[in-house]
Amino acid sequence: MDFSLSEEHLMIRDAARDFAKTELLPGVVERDNKQEFPTEQVKKMGELGFLGMMVDPKYGGGGMDTVSYVLAMEELSKVDASCSVIVSVNNSLVCYGLEAYGTEAQKQKYLTKLATGQSIGAFCLSEPEAGSDATSQRTTAIDKGDHYVLNGTKNWITNGNSADFYLVIAQTDKEKKHKGINAFIVEKSWEGFEVGPKEDKLGIRGSDTHTLNFNDVKVPKENRIGDDGFGFKFAMKTLSGGRIGIAAQALGIAAGAYDLAREYSKVRKTFGTEICNHQAIAFKLADMHTSIEAARLLVMKAAWDKDQGNNYDMSGAMAKLYASQVAMDVSVEAVQVHGGNGFVKEYHVERMMRDAKITQIYEGTSEIQKMVISRGLLRD
Ligand SMILES: Cc1cc2nc3c(=O)[nH]c(=O)nc-3n(C[C@H](O)[C@H](O)[C@H](O)COP(=O)(O)OP(=O)(O)OC[C@H]3O[C@@H](n4cnc5c(N)ncnc54)[C@H](O)[C@@H]3O)c2cc1C
Repeated sequence: MDFSLSEEHLMIRDAARDFAKTELLPGVVERDNKQEFPTEQVKKMGELGFLGMMVDPKYGGGGMDTVSYVLAMEELSKVDASCSVIVSVNNSLVCYGLEAYGTEAQKQKYLTKLATGQSIGAFCLSEPEAGSDATSQRTTAIDKGDHYVLNGTKNWITNGNSADFYLVIAQTDKEKKHKGINAFIVEKSWEGFEVGPKEDKLGIRGSDTHTLNFNDVKVPKENRIGDDGFGFKFAMKTLSGGRIGIAAQALGIAAGAYDLAREYSKVRKTFGTEICNHQAIAFKLADMHTSIEAARLLVMKAAWDKDQGNNYDMSGAMAKLYASQVAMDVSVEAVQVHGGNGFVKEYHVERMMRDAKITQIYEGTSEIQKMVISRGLLRD
């Protein structure tokens, strides 16, 4: 067993680390305050290849493995989880979904732009009545011969206003239940497509989360992904890989908060000594570091499973379940280590604590991850 990273992996990790420090750190507090989408930063991430990391180079991607992707996700998330969720959705939901299940024509038309960051993608599964219970789709797509007519509402959509292309899940045949669901590529400019108001969120405030409305949107038949009725499977398979990205995001938030807490504990003095010399603080750091290391191993194992062609449903769910809890625990403790300074924005850890919470909710709540894991382990 070899736990060391290759030269290439180290280069990717360092490139993401440098980018986060030089391009994401300045302005991260302000973007969070103003709920401002990081337009310039996303453009640069596209130019550097962070938006289509695993896509085949023939479609403009980086041709990298999942281990490289999670290394980059961790580094970006250490500094700015709003930016990293944009990277995660574009890479592991939109690009992966299209590359794995799209037609050649769909890949040429859409994937080539998404992988290079010329365009941004969004993944639209959730609805007001269909979150954890994703089979309860109320958005409909009626077959009209050469096209479908799409009607309904999606909510909580990341990149909701900034995206150019949307992968939209809809019910095409109610009688067939989840086997009557399909996935479609929808372009923002199409008639009847409307972006609703932006959500005012607790965390990841730089990412734009919107409700989307579809009013008689005409979707050409060639924009359906996969065979008729493949949509639910498409969503589940895509989310399975997406969870590895969110697990890496959670790991990064935890690692970022820990790094700041460690540094602070070495300079802040109370009772005549640095606070790291108080055992209560040193033991907090020991617990934080240990749980982060355990989370990192789960994240890496899930990424490795995907790269090896192994089933990663369970390992991805375990990584997300555990890393998201670690992100919560560590970020709360990082605030504690900072004392009163932890409670104000310029020290960053309060933002990390707010950002951490979403990793237990999106791409399947922690309760849903436990359902995936328990079903997997009770299968035979
Ligand atoms: C900031 C943000 C960004 C998001 N981005 C996207 C996106 O880009 N695309 C997209 O499609 N969706 C997105 N989502 C939606 C997200 O995936 C859902 O919010 C999530 O799946 C939970 O669904 P829900 O909100 O309807 O909660 P519910 O399903 O109503 O769940 C409420 C609670 O009940 C629990 N629960 C539900 N069913 C069970 C059960 N069977 N057993 C035990 N407990 C259960 C849940 O775990 C949760 O604690 C985003 C959400 C947020 C907040």
